[in-house]
Amino acid sequence: MNKWEENIRKVEPYIPGEQPQEKDMIKLNTNENPYPPSPKVVEAHQNMDTDRFALYPDPSSSELVQALERYYGRESGQVFTGVGSDDVLSLAFLTFFNSDKPVLFPDVTYSFYPVWAKVYQIPYECPPLDEDFRIRPGDYMRENGGIVIANPNAPTSIGMPLRQVEEIIRGNPDVVVIIDEAYVDFGGETVLPLLDRYENLLVVRTYSKSRSLAGMRIGFAMGSRRLIQALNDVKESVNSYTMNMESIRLGAASLEDEEYFQSCLDRIVGTRTRVKRELEGRGFICLDSCTNFLFVRHERKSAGILFEELQRRKIFVRHFGGERIRDYLRITIGTDQQMDRLLEVLDEL
Ligand code: PMP
Repeated sequence: MNKWEENIRKVEPYIPGEQPQEKDMIKLNTNENPYPPSPKVVEAHQNMDTDRFALYPDPSSSELVQALERYYGRESGQVFTGVGSDDVLSLAFLTFFNSDKPVLFPDVTYSFYPVWAKVYQIPYECPPLDEDFRIRPGDYMRENGGIVIANPNAPTSIGMPLRQVEEIIRGNPDVVVIIDEAYVDFGGETVLPLLDRYENLLVVRTYSKSRSLAGMRIGFAMGSRRLIQALNDVKESVNSYTMNMESIRLGAASLEDEEYFQSCLDRIVGTRTRVKRELEGRGFICLDSCTNFLFVRHERKSAGILFEELQRRKIFVRHFGGERIRDYLRITIGTDQQMDRLLEVLDEL
């Protein structure tokens, strides 16, 4: 090793789901929305004044921040935006987990959490989910440097009741508690009503799933003014211009079309209910999903083999290697047509 190499920060990066570029594939591997963004978003995109692209964007994304404040009934200074919720979560780790005590998150959860902990050199511990893949609030009642809970959890798809999440928040007044609600619009219970009671609660959301805008990279957080101010201070110390002009504009436009938003959610939830039943009829065990994906295992067939067989037929789902979950496949809910094709191929297999 060269001397200079010793000074390189060594990290094992997060591996995002594959983004295959094949034609006529069925992509059910990264929990995107199968429906296009709202016509209001398309219109806003077409009306973008491209001459303005020569200028820097608004560093505080005011248009989007204010639209979110109105939509969620928050006051000024209670919303923060970022380049997808990964950016928001990463900054939140850097901002709030600044102690020698371990940050706590479940052993089976969004696999980016341990990666941020490592890159920022934050100690962490992972209380195991119970045998049914549920979070036990009691595990979070010990000394810690902060808590992160994805609710509904990923990749399990399971939602935690609000009173249990509140138990965790109430028991931890001395640290910041982050609730990652990436999938909450599909049927989870949100902690938003608790925001006014807990100044140390940060809720993180994304446009990538329920708002059909994964490609625009829009995420946001809601919390007390002090938390949001702290996030802004750190963000301004790393990169002033995170959100690009178009994402700011389209993110705001998306909030103006509640009817379309709700109709896409309803379709996905309807498809999820039907596909779960169909899969169960074919020998799959499906965890109870509050998300836009199903976490399933088959009574007899190996998940690894099913994953490969599906891929060979251009159907992409997600298979994780972790010890507790290697028997499972995570299947995003696509359109009815896509899901019918999946079921047809599973029948062949
Ligand atoms: N949180 C969870 C639980 C997720 O599954 C994802 C998607 N991979 C994210 C956050 C990040 O999503 P994005 O950066 O697209 O907002």
